[in-house]
Amino acid sequence: MTASFSRNAPVSICDVAARDGLQSEKRIWSVAERVELINRLAKTGIRRIEAVSFVNPKRVPQMADAEKVMAQIDREVDVRIAGLALNMKGVERALDAGVDEVRYVVVASETFNQKNQGASIAETMTGLESIAGRVKASGKVFSAVIGASFGCPFEGEITTEAVVNIGVRLGALGVDEILLADTIGCAVPSEVRERVEALQSVLEDSTAVGCHFHNTRNTGIANAVAAVESGVRILDASVGGIGGCPFAPRATGNISTEDLVYILRNMGYETSIDLPQLIDVATWVEDYFDDPLPGQVMKAGLFPDDVIAGQKTASV
Ligand code: ZN
Repeated sequence: MTASFSRNAPVSICDVAARDGLQSEKRIWSVAERVELINRLAKTGIRRIEAVSFVNPKRVPQMADAEKVMAQIDREVDVRIAGLALNMKGVERALDAGVDEVRYVVVASETFNQKNQGASIAETMTGLESIAGRVKASGKVFSAVIGASFGCPFEGEITTEAVVNIGVRLGALGVDEILLADTIGCAVPSEVRERVEALQSVLEDSTAVGCHFHNTRNTGIANAVAAVESGVRILDASVGGIGGCPFAPRATGNISTEDLVYILRNMGYETSIDLPQLIDVATWVEDYFDDPLPGQVMKAGLFPDDVIAGQKTASV
């Protein structure tokens, strides 16, 4: 069944800076700093934040103390807080900590899945059945990220068929959302269109397709636009464009949330996010880094200055 969408449906952006953005930073952010980042993002009008990861702190020390972060953040009623989990233990922790959405990861390549989750794809998929049941029973949103959906740092090319096969199995488990993640930032827009459309064509309308792009090869924003034009209404991004992956060599930042909001807004798509406020958050984040952040709109400013909610009033 082809997922239906409206050209005018708002694009739902999930800021992943507090998780994907910080998980490979050399300087480990304190709980208080992570809480402040999430609280500042929540005030920009954003509807989704991936705030924490319930992984083993020995493997990813940057993501330790997820429970403390969850307990200390302000819970805005209209902001959905997501937590990442890689196994049932992580899922139980996420639910106990009060996430609104559990995000689970399967990687489309065998080698990368082994490195990321310490298990084969088959083992990860087998575990998913009980995990899906557990999350569904809790009433929380269950999302699945297919990592390395466009290419693997260890195995190279990943076929559309491999991604669709995983997607079909996820859809059968009743997953609410499937995110195609370009973990190493190698995708180009034609591949995005092809994979998104292939996946949408085999999923029920109850499972939405989203995308998660890294800008490693400067294709991230073009890929996001291709996704939106293919009907995707869920996109991940990180404020300032911070990010990486501890298990993917040479991976760099996510597409920047403010760059994404800028292009979508100026194309006439609604995102709910106050862009000047979001740029203020990016500038605040930048103070914690030695080097300028990758985001470009935060440096260049808005154009035209008086664009409001997609209504262009450009003067000549
Ligand atoms: Zn990522």
